[in-house]
Amino acid sequence: MGSPEAPVIISGAGPVGLIAAANLSRAGVPVVMLERTTDVPRDLRASTFHPPTLDMLAKFGIADRLVEKGLVCPHWQYRDRDTGVVATFDLGVLSDDTAYPFRLQCEQWKMSDMLREDFAQAGGIDLRYGHTVTGFVQDETGVTVTFADPAGAPGEIRGRYLIAADGAHSPIRKQLGVKFDGQTIPEIFLSVSTTFDFGTVIPDLAPIAYVSDPDEWNVLLRTPSLWRVLLPTDATLSDEQIRDPETIERRLQGIQAKPGRYEIVHATAYRVHERVAEAYVHGRVFLAGDAAHLNNPLGGMGMNGGIHDALNLTDKLIAVLAGAPAETLGRYERQRRKVALDTVQATTLRNRKMMSEKDPAARAAYHDELRGIVADRAKHRAHLLKASMIQSLRDLDAVA
Ligand SMILES: Cc1cc2nc3c(=O)[nH]c(=O)nc-3n(C[C@H](O)[C@H](O)[C@H](O)COP(=O)(O)OP(=O)(O)OC[C@H]3O[C@@H](n4cnc5c(N)ncnc54)[C@H](O)[C@@H]3O)c2cc1C
Repeated sequence: MGSPEAPVIISGAGPVGLIAAANLSRAGVPVVMLERTTDVPRDLRASTFHPPTLDMLAKFGIADRLVEKGLVCPHWQYRDRDTGVVATFDLGVLSDDTAYPFRLQCEQWKMSDMLREDFAQAGGIDLRYGHTVTGFVQDETGVTVTFADPAGAPGEIRGRYLIAADGAHSPIRKQLGVKFDGQTIPEIFLSVSTTFDFGTVIPDLAPIAYVSDPDEWNVLLRTPSLWRVLLPTDATLSDEQIRDPETIERRLQGIQAKPGRYEIVHATAYRVHERVAEAYVHGRVFLAGDAAHLNNPLGGMGMNGGIHDALNLTDKLIAVLAGAPAETLGRYERQRRKVALDTVQATTLRNRKMMSEKDPAARAAYHDELRGIVADRAKHRAHLLKASMIQSLRDLDAVA
């Protein structure tokens, strides 16, 4: 039976699961987290924190600590590979809209590390690494979750609710049999990190630059210690061919010719999808973050949107546990699914189209539009409210 003391169970201790746990625990709700890996993965994934995400993280005392460990970027830009800067956006125009009018470049695992340390100090969250969720059964009073412990032995735990923050391949989404419609982007994305400082040689380069080109667009992103280059890549090639050091060298020299070889620190190639789950709320089981929606990284909205989900869902869960009607949780799905479709998917697909547009007239029209936006303060602010995901949060109230 789901006793009042039974925990909320969270499958997955990525950024979304951890923020959900932090919010529940802050409200005094007991939480058990089950995470398959034995430690916080250190792989290079999301590196951009948008302003409203930092505003949200401030209540957990981690926004300023992240700022200390990251790179504050008040500007980002669109460029053309041949002609250089098209438009430079200044997040300073949002200074009345957010306490953090900048994009913070900081690896997602740094936030995960901080939260894990905070949980260990504060108590209240039972975070079990090396525990793989294998299934669940739900009834009117709760959810029984089965898992394999670090030794592979089966176990089970009873909770009031289950949050599936178990990532893109979400085993819980699969068990639910939820449709995950959308598309797979035809090209593979190759992410390469180098010690070379592009800022010293490319004129007027902002630390976040989306570089359009009809043949090969790219993104240049500075992190506190490295530059990351994102490149579209032929999906018929093998992973070995894509990550071949000579090929990477040739491609980077194509972006910026320089004497000597590029020093490569990481190279990861990955498939990109644009998909949204048909439903997020399934009785006492909820999908959040990558388990609920996937998008291309052009705009840095994946992790940010997932953190916004986690707080929206857990605020409602806290209200329901305090006596609000269970239907309150349906609004989580209506609000956040709409954001995934209308904001995140629409923006990231448009960004990809703009960067890869082959038709010269259409390219010129995009570029003129961007120049027009930055030349007009009201349009500039409106554009940044959308690109920074502030507008999508303000629009939530209009969703019943
Ligand atoms: C190579 C790469 C680059 C990316 N770059 C960007 C970027 O530049 N910008 C951006 O915004 N986003 C980027 N993303 C996406 C971003 O990393 C995700 O949106 C974000 O991590 C989502 O967080 P999450 O907590 O929902 O899922 P995840 O971070 O995937 O966490 C899910 C967790 O669930 C655990 N888990 C899975 N199955 C089980 C199970 N059965 N039992 C227990 N635990 C389980 C996993 O081990 C994992 O720790 C990138 C992703 C990849 C793969």
